[in-house]
Parts: sequence; structure tokens; C-alpha cells
Amino acid sequence: MDREYINVMEEIVVTWVQVLMSGMEYQTFCSCRKCKNDIITLSLNNMPNYYVTTEEGRMRIFENLNTEENRKWINKRIINAIHVVGQYPKH
Ligand SMILES: [Zn+2]
Repeated sequence: MDREYINVMEEIVVTWVQVLMSGMEYQTFCSCRKCKNDIITLSLNNMPNYYVTTEEGRMRIFENLNTEENRKWINKRIINAIHVVGQYPKH
């Protein structure tokens, strides 16, 4: 970790948005920096934070969050954010 504290959920969402936006399914949506940032913040504002201060804590939270059910839940929120931002882009 290069920061003293991080939100594990933020790390997951940032990575996930990159993956989804580079996939075939979302090619029609704008993936500029502005829209990506809006998708990330809109998603995160609808999700719980999981702040940690240690690498051990980070791995533990990541493992706890990495269940089939949680992945579906996170995926749903991000896809929802992609559609909202796509409908109302700020440019
Ligand atoms: Zn854009």
C-alpha cells in the first residue's frame, strides 16, 4: 500500500469499471476519463466503505468481499452507474 489508509471497495470498483468499460458489452458507452470518474464515484456513493490501514486487513476484506453474491451485487451497482452516466454525460 502506498497510502496510509485505503478503501478496499474503491480499489475493487476502480478495477472493475476498467474491466467492464474495456469489454465488448459497453463499447457504445463513453469511456473518457470524466465519464469513468463519474461512474466510479456514483457507484461508490451507493456502497459501503471498507477502509483498512494494513496489507493484512486489505487482503482479509478483499477475501470477504470476493464471494459470488457480493460480486453480483457490486457488478449490478456498477452497471447501473454506467447506464446513468451514459444517459446523462457531463459533456
Ligand atoms: Zn465521456
